[in-house]
Amino acid sequence: LIRIERVSKTFGSGLPALREVSLQVERGEILGIAGRSGAGKSTLLRMMNLLERPDSGTVEVAGRELTSLAPRELRAARQEIGMIFQGYNLLQNLNVADNVAFPLRLHGRLNPPRLRQRVEECLALVGLTGKARSYPAQLSGGQKQRVAIARALANQPAILLCDEPTSALDAETTRGLLQTLQAVNTELGVTIVIVSHELPALGALCRRVAVIEDGRVAEDFLLSDLSTPRSTALGRELAFHGA
Ligand code: ATP
Ligand code: MG
Repeated sequence: LIRIERVSKTFGSGLPALREVSLQVERGEILGIAGRSGAGKSTLLRMMNLLERPDSGTVEVAGRELTSLAPRELRAARQEIGMIFQGYNLLQNLNVADNVAFPLRLHGRLNPPRLRQRVEECLALVGLTGKARSYPAQLSGGQKQRVAIARALANQPAILLCDEPTSALDAETTRGLLQTLQAVNTELGVTIVIVSHELPALGALCRRVAVIEDGRVAEDFLLSDLSTPRSTALGRELAFHGA
């Protein structure tokens, strides 16, 4: 579903953030991306909807090469890709329902009753039906992240990109959020790519993980593959948590 080929990216005059990275994401899978701080995880994730543009290489989503699209076509292609961030990025002056409705209104394809219905479906999906009229400031961290997921799913994307979705949450809340992501994958068939520092969380959720080191994919393996020795320390730790 996503095919990244030999993508490189250098910011300003610094060291390369990504060096000829190639990575594929299959339809329906949950792929984890692990790596130390500064390894290039967020940059790689942001390539997948072209929030970052590669200096060289190609990014293909559902058979379309994003780098070659005109702005209008790129906006259309991005409808297929939802994203959530560590900081939630909710609109503080809008209530929960209006936050979820925001991308729907932006694209203006649903009439008001259909739009309300879609918002309710999304909130039900993340277990926040009773919170439609609350404002972000009145919610816990886990609830805010659920609103962010509901909003990311509003346009029924095929792909959900998650950058450190659990890093501000306690262990219990993290477990609940991982269950929600699991349900989004199995019940809606949404393909998920998740960047996280939390190896137990990746081990619990993912089928496959890629370890990024210094802007390269150091390892890329199925957690079910226990017979191949792992070549990185993070890979060994992930294999332990996945087992
Ligand atoms: P973390 O775990 O801390 O979030 P990361 O693996 O997500 O780290 P990236 O954010 O992808 O790392 O950054 C990779 C490298 O690119 C770092 O050296 C970072 O300083 C640099 N970088 C990332 N974004 C920018 C930017 N917008 N401008 C300049 N440098 C950047
Ligand atoms: Mg990051």
